Amino acid sequence: MSKYYEHDLYSHPAILYDKSSNGNKETHCKLCSHYCDIKEGNVGTCLLRKNIDGELFTMSWGRTEGLAVDPIEKKPFYHFKPASKVLSFGTPGCNFKCMNCQNWQLSQAVKNYSDEALRMNILKPGHIAEYASLYRLDGIAYTYSEPTIFFEYARDTIHACRKNKKTENIFHVFVSNGFFSKETFDLIDKENLLQAINIDLKFMDDKKYRKISGGELQPVLDSIKRVADMKEKIHMEIINLIIPGENDSDDDIEKLCDFIYSLSPDIPLHFSRFYPHYKFSGKPATSLVTLKRAREIAIKQGLHYIYIGNTNIPGAEDTHCPKCNQLLISRTIYGITKNNIIQDQKSGKPLCPDCKTEIPVIM
Ligand code: SF4
Repeated sequence: MSKYYEHDLYSHPAILYDKSSNGNKETHCKLCSHYCDIKEGNVGTCLLRKNIDGELFTMSWGRTEGLAVDPIEKKPFYHFKPASKVLSFGTPGCNFKCMNCQNWQLSQAVKNYSDEALRMNILKPGHIAEYASLYRLDGIAYTYSEPTIFFEYARDTIHACRKNKKTENIFHVFVSNGFFSKETFDLIDKENLLQAINIDLKFMDDKKYRKISGGELQPVLDSIKRVADMKEKIHMEIINLIIPGENDSDDDIEKLCDFIYSLSPDIPLHFSRFYPHYKFSGKPATSLVTLKRAREIAIKQGLHYIYIGNTNIPGAEDTHCPKCNQLLISRTIYGITKNNIIQDQKSGKPLCPDCKTEIPVIM
């Protein structure tokens, strides 16, 4: 591997791995569902965790990219802290290799990074907390690339925020491909690291997951089920990028909606418009007709909150009461224009102003 993987200069001790007991210095990474066995001197599938002399190190710690202030709606979260502002960032690399990746320069170009490029971007967790405080932000979004592969850095940032009086109560959200392991999720749960997560459910077909993303379907479904089981603790929304010819048939959409419905019809589902990127540059953008058809199927399947994003279809990002159809929240791209939800005077629960149905929005 490249010489920039010198642990004294560029790496940070990893967590969630086992050392071999037979003296061969092999390591077994348990951070994501690839569960890589990594021999001494080698890296895992993500190229970001290296076995150095029988110990595992992460190369993504502190390598912040894309630091920016965003509305929470941009992540997208539509039912969590509407109109709040978050500090967003990611780091280079990913455990997937999506042929359609719109951030591929960040997620896939790790091999081409120079020593200097990696060295430039070290930002300590305490400094991120200071940024969040300085700009009076409501939370931090770990996004752009897969947060699992910079989990140690994200976790250290969350703990740094909690130690800072000005940021101890801000929220933390992951925008994830859902391929994190059970061990990682157990740690998230044990330390109460996250308040919300948006999981990208890409396909309902394992072959497509393997061919297009380099992942697998079942671990992603398992992650979604685990988070759904903890809905009182972690809010979840699901996004599905509809790619022409890959996951846009009625059958694809029905299977996806069936799965979500089996967990809860209240889980917000975002259909997102595909635009040609990376190895899928030759494909057309998703047609608006397809996106609207997907939404109709989801309504027919019984889901309550379905949105169309990454485009600008009037009304397609609005929230309506599932009982009386009253307009609750109207949105334009990444912004709220009206929030009609009221809160119950005693319990504080969010309600439809008309029929008083409880609405699953965390205010
Ligand atoms: S994070 Fe995932 S891809 Fe990277 S080394 Fe660990 S198990 Fe492998």
